[in-house]
Amino acid sequence: MNIYVIGSGFFGAVIAERIAADAGIPVTVIEKRHHVGGNSWSEICPDTGIECHKYGSHIFHTSDEQVWNYMCRFTGFNNYRHKVLTTYNENVYTMPINLTTINSFYGLSLTSSEVSTFIAGEAAKEKIDKPENLEEKAVSLIGRPLYEAFIKGYTIKQWDKDPRELSSGIISRLPVRNDDNDRYFSDKYEGIPLDGYGKLFAEILNHDLISVKLNTDFFAVRDSIPPDSLILYTGAIDQFFDYCHGKLEWRTSTFETDIHDFPDYQGTTVMNYASHEIPYTRIHEFKHYHPERPSTDKTITYTEYSKKSKDKDEPYYPVATERNLMILEKYKKDAAKLNNVIFGGRLGSYKYLDMDDAISEALKCYESRVVPLLK
Ligand code: FAD
Ligand code: UDP
Repeated sequence: MNIYVIGSGFFGAVIAERIAADAGIPVTVIEKRHHVGGNSWSEICPDTGIECHKYGSHIFHTSDEQVWNYMCRFTGFNNYRHKVLTTYNENVYTMPINLTTINSFYGLSLTSSEVSTFIAGEAAKEKIDKPENLEEKAVSLIGRPLYEAFIKGYTIKQWDKDPRELSSGIISRLPVRNDDNDRYFSDKYEGIPLDGYGKLFAEILNHDLISVKLNTDFFAVRDSIPPDSLILYTGAIDQFFDYCHGKLEWRTSTFETDIHDFPDYQGTTVMNYASHEIPYTRIHEFKHYHPERPSTDKTITYTEYSKKSKDKDEPYYPVATERNLMILEKYKKDAAKLNNVIFGGRLGSYKYLDMDDAISEALKCYESRVVPLLK
C-alpha cells in the first residue's frame, strides 16, 4: 500500500516517523512550504545568528510522559521557563494574572490568603452563575476591572470579535494565581529544543523509508496519487472538500521584523500589549529563548498583528463560534465516509492543538487507526 502524509508539522512528521520506524513501511511526506515542521519551525537568522521561530514563539511544554519520552529521542531541551509580561496604560504587569499583577493594578499589598477573597468580591459584583461566553467566564473569574484591562482589548485584537461571541474555552489556558508564581505554563516538562525546531524536525524525519517532497501542494498532485493509497491529511479540512459546506474561519498572524544594533530590546521573550488602541498583540524577542547560547551584539524582534485569514494567508487559529462549529460537523461527517483518508492535526481537525497535543494525537492515531489498516 502506498502511504502519503500531507503536511510535515508535528502531526504529520510524527505519524510518518512511526510508519517508517515502527511499521517499516515507506512513506511519502508532501509539504507545500519550502521547509518541514509546519508552524513550529525555527531557523537561525543569518544577520544576527539568533534562532527565530518563524511563525511566532513556540515553547514546548507537556505533562504527558509518553510525549516527553518520545520527543527526548530526537532532541535535548534547555531549561527555559516561559514568563510573559503585559503592558497596559504604560505600566508593565505579570501575565497570567497573579498576586503581583493584582497588587500592582489595584495599588494594594494583599497577601496570598487575602487576595482570593478580594477577587471573589470583585467577581461577585456581577451575578454570573453559568458563564456562557468568554466575557462572562473572565468576569466571573477575575471581576470586570481586570477583565477590561488585560483580557478585553487583547481578545478583541486577537479575534476581531466581541468576547461575548467567543467560547469561554479560549481563555481556559490562562490560569489566575493567588501567589507570585509567574510561569505561563504549569506543565511538568518545559523547554526549547537545544538545537532549534528545524534540527528537531530533520531528526524526526531522518529515516531511509521517509521521502519528503517540499514545495508540493497536495491539491496540485492529488490526481497523480494512486486511488488505493492511504492518505494522512493534515491540511485544512474545508479545503479538502473544496469548501462545499462553506469556508471555516481562521485567524492568522503577521509579523514585522526588526533587527536592533544593541544586545537587548525588552529583556524578555514576550511582551503582550493589552490595550485595544495599540494595533499589535505582542512583541517576541527570540534570543531570550536560548540563555544557554553565547550572547550576540544584535537582537531581533517580531511584532505580531492578528488578522482574519484570507486566501493566501496561513491559517493559524480556528475561530470557535457556533457557525464554524456547525460547518465543521458537516465536514467531519464527510470525512468519516472516506476509508482511505485520515484527517488529523490542527488544520485537519479544526482544533487549537498545542505541540504536545498534536504529537499525542499522532501517536494515538498511528496505533488506533493506521496500524489496523496495515495488517
Ligand atoms: P502545522 O504545524 O500547521 O502543520 C501543517 C502542515 O501542513 C504545514 O507545514 C502546512 O504547510 C502543510 N500543508 C497544509 N496544507 C497543505 C497542502 N495542501 N499540501 C501540502 N502541505 C500542506 N504550541 C505549543 O505547544 N507551544 C507554543 O508556544 C505554541 N505557540 C504557538 C504560537 C502560534 C502563533 C501558533 C499559531 C501556534 C502555536 N502553537 C504552540 C501550536 C503549534 O503551532 C501546533 O501545535 C502545531 O503547529 C500543530 O502541528 P500540526 O502538524 O497539526 O500543524
Ligand atoms: N489573552 C488575553 N490577554 C493576554 C493573553 C491572552 O486576553 O495578555 C486571551 C486571548 O483571548 C488569547 C487567549 O487568552 O487568545 C489565549 O492566550 P494564549 O497566550 O494562550 O494564546 P496563544 O499563545 O496561543 O496566542
